[in-house]
Amino acid sequence: MVYVVHKDDASSDANAEYTSKVLDALRSRSIEEETALAAEKHGLRYLDLGIYPVDEKIVFLLTKEQAMSYGAALFQKDKGKLRIALSEPENVAARTALTTIATDLGLEPEFFLVSRPSIEKAWHEYDKKPLIENLDFMHVTLKGDDLQKFESDFSELLEIKHNASKIPTSRILEIIIAGAYKLRSSDIHFEPFEDTVRLRYRIDGELQEIGQLPNEIYRLALSRVKMISKMKINIRDRSQDGHFFVELEKKRIDVRVNIIPGNHGESINMRLLTGEEAFVPVEELGLRGRAYDEVKRQTERPFGMILNTGPTGSGKTTTLYSLLNSVNSPHLKIITIEDPIEYVLPGIVQTEVSKDKSYTFAQGLRAIVRQDPDIILVGEIRDEETADIALNAALTGHLVFSTLHTNSAAASIARLMELGAKTSSIVTGVSIFIAQRLVRILCPKCKASYVPAQKTVTALKKILSYISPKAGVVIPDDIPLLYKPAGCNDCNFTGYRGRKGIFEVFPVNEKMGALISSGALENEIRAAAIEDGMLTMSQDGILKVIDGNTTMDEVWDSAGKEEALQSLYDDILSDSNVKETIAKGGTQEEV
Ligand SMILES: [Zn+2]
Repeated sequence: MVYVVHKDDASSDANAEYTSKVLDALRSRSIEEETALAAEKHGLRYLDLGIYPVDEKIVFLLTKEQAMSYGAALFQKDKGKLRIALSEPENVAARTALTTIATDLGLEPEFFLVSRPSIEKAWHEYDKKPLIENLDFMHVTLKGDDLQKFESDFSELLEIKHNASKIPTSRILEIIIAGAYKLRSSDIHFEPFEDTVRLRYRIDGELQEIGQLPNEIYRLALSRVKMISKMKINIRDRSQDGHFFVELEKKRIDVRVNIIPGNHGESINMRLLTGEEAFVPVEELGLRGRAYDEVKRQTERPFGMILNTGPTGSGKTTTLYSLLNSVNSPHLKIITIEDPIEYVLPGIVQTEVSKDKSYTFAQGLRAIVRQDPDIILVGEIRDEETADIALNAALTGHLVFSTLHTNSAAASIARLMELGAKTSSIVTGVSIFIAQRLVRILCPKCKASYVPAQKTVTALKKILSYISPKAGVVIPDDIPLLYKPAGCNDCNFTGYRGRKGIFEVFPVNEKMGALISSGALENEIRAAAIEDGMLTMSQDGILKVIDGNTTMDEVWDSAGKEEALQSLYDDILSDSNVKETIAKGGTQEEV
């Protein structure tokens, strides 16, 4: 990666010039650039599916056979348009057939020329299989003996349907839980359908189908789960919660269980808590530049509120645990109130909201304040009373960590006001607003690089050019390479391993405080925060794409609604050449 930061001496100028020549040469030979040129020749728009998201539901509107025979893939549907990737611009018959398919769907076809690697990426959707059906998949994190054992255990489970009593029930669960642990899953889902029960694992936030369990095996497993989680076995029409512990590879794993009734029987969700997520160093959360500095600075102050927002599963609790751990010391009294306690933290008094409402966030927090704490963690602010006490605690010499369920950092202010908070308490109480999402990280062992077309580079650079210098991040001068997932044993053949946050962060400084006090709207606060050096989540995501840490698919999945991303994709979809052709009376389909 070439970052040109200082341009103040002649030798670095010469270097930069040389580097840019090398890059030009590389680019002119790149498959993507060649495809872009071919697109121009054929009056088509060029697109790089390495950075433009492929919607798997749309891909399946064509069968694999159709897609292969047309050399094409459907990849997006938007505003009455069906976006179609072509890899063979001369295949006129394919275009005619695809136009008919789009029209039959009531959609207008939009054709794009893409490279071979791009079309293969879309076609890859056809080859995704349940893990158990794809033995390569199982070569995974399971190695040697482990792998063989899991494979044989699992096929035993699936083959035993005619004589389920052959296998001890405790063994069934053991196989399933050990398999999930080995594959680094956070959750195990059992979902009953008419004839079988689907077993899925959530790995790095994505659900992966493991296989179908025979009903008879599932019934045994269900009773066993209820028994060991101390639930009522004969209750089948209500939701139940419970938990149990297992020990795997000398590690104690807390398994939190929820069961709900359904039309084909009860579904089980098991969450595996290994405790590892609770101890991510602050440096590894994914914060960069000013966002990192400000979060560190505000965390080290003795009072004020650090508010992290995002939907469920966005990693906000992990971030707060990480910050809390970074300030944990024997001479500070730290108390938490959580729902439920997710990880046991050493040296910290943790309390849990009770199901029967005798200890709520508000009641608990009121009690905690009387315990003379220095630092308080409130799992979530979701009612007026909690908002009020938490802000008050922050105003009266406590450092308070909490979360809110909103989509962006700027939206938190409106949410707090909905919860009855006065702007004056928000401005003086809250020290920093954080919002985050999680993106999967490209597997460092197998990620593949490619040279993007100039058009792609220009579009990415344009969105980065909106970043304020105050954000304190290094903006790359050029984008010589982009990265894409491949797949290897280390990453369960998904191409990704682990997750990191993409963040937007703004401290409530004098300027932001004055704006909030004046009753500014969410978009005004957001604009001012950006000007003041806030990276948006999508900008942070794109920087992580350019660093080779993640992909645009991931950023799109987690921050796709952000206006900056929308405008990036508008840029990528538009093409001046095509517009000119249309203006001259031609159409984009014209060859
Ligand atoms: Zn890999």
